[in-house]
Amino acid sequence: MIRLLSAVFLCAVSAVAASVPAKPAPAPDTAAPTPPSPKPAATASASAPIMSVPADATAPAAPGAPRITFSQCHVEGPYVALTFDDGPHGANTPRLLEMLKQRKIHATFFMVGQCVAEFPDIVKKIVAEGHEVANHSWSHPQLSGMSESGVREQLQKTHDAIIAACGVTPKIMRPPYGAFTARQRAWANGEWGYKCALWDVDPLDWKVRNAEHVKNEILKATVPGSIILSHDIHKTTVDAMPETIDGLLAKGFKFVTVSELLAMDKPLPPKPKATPAPKADPALAAKAESPAPQPATPVQKPKP
Ligand SMILES: [Zn+2]
Repeated sequence: MIRLLSAVFLCAVSAVAASVPAKPAPAPDTAAPTPPSPKPAATASASAPIMSVPADATAPAAPGAPRITFSQCHVEGPYVALTFDDGPHGANTPRLLEMLKQRKIHATFFMVGQCVAEFPDIVKKIVAEGHEVANHSWSHPQLSGMSESGVREQLQKTHDAIIAACGVTPKIMRPPYGAFTARQRAWANGEWGYKCALWDVDPLDWKVRNAEHVKNEILKATVPGSIILSHDIHKTTVDAMPETIDGLLAKGFKFVTVSELLAMDKPLPPKPKATPAPKADPALAAKAESPAPQPATPVQKPKP
């Protein structure tokens, strides 16, 4: 088992190292926890920092252990969460807020601390209009490769800046690029009570700056329980929202914040338990063991 975990860890580390761009600049939170989706092969090449699904992101928690990482929820009803990363942005976020207000829907904003400090009035407005605010680090680095003190600074400064701007204590976080090890996720949950919200719908809006593309990708991939990733710092993403939201509404989807969606999450029906343990399948064995954080020393298989 230990050997297997080491191997997985090494794969994970090298995958992240190989896939994350040297320059973490503005934003791609990209294609991470999504299962392979019908996107053209070309999309997944070179410049896109693709990461694989965190092994425990979608697995049910061990009995009695609360889940702390989500890329999608299992809900009874057509509920989805729209999320916007990397803002607030001085022009695009207020424009988006108007669109959301007109449609009386609430979204979740994973904000970068630097932008929170720059636009506290927009943060206030986000909260006043009923949306959820969440932590997306201070300056958008790849947290999975950083020291504990470095990660603490990134998250604490942002946590404090959000509270200072709007008086609301964030309950959830999203690591830039989806890159946060299982150990870090357990640690952040202990330190700030954060749940780690990833995503299952990724229109690659940071890369393809085309509103029609953003809309089509979201409409194609969204299912009940989806957490939809996009970025309110991009004009084309905000341009896409009226038709995207109206398209989702026409399909019967209802919008809730991420915390509301997580609260609706129901454990999936137990599957492996009913049948005898599948013999000697290392992948399954690893999966079965991974999502069982111990209360005191939460050690999980590191990922992504
Ligand atoms: Zn981001």
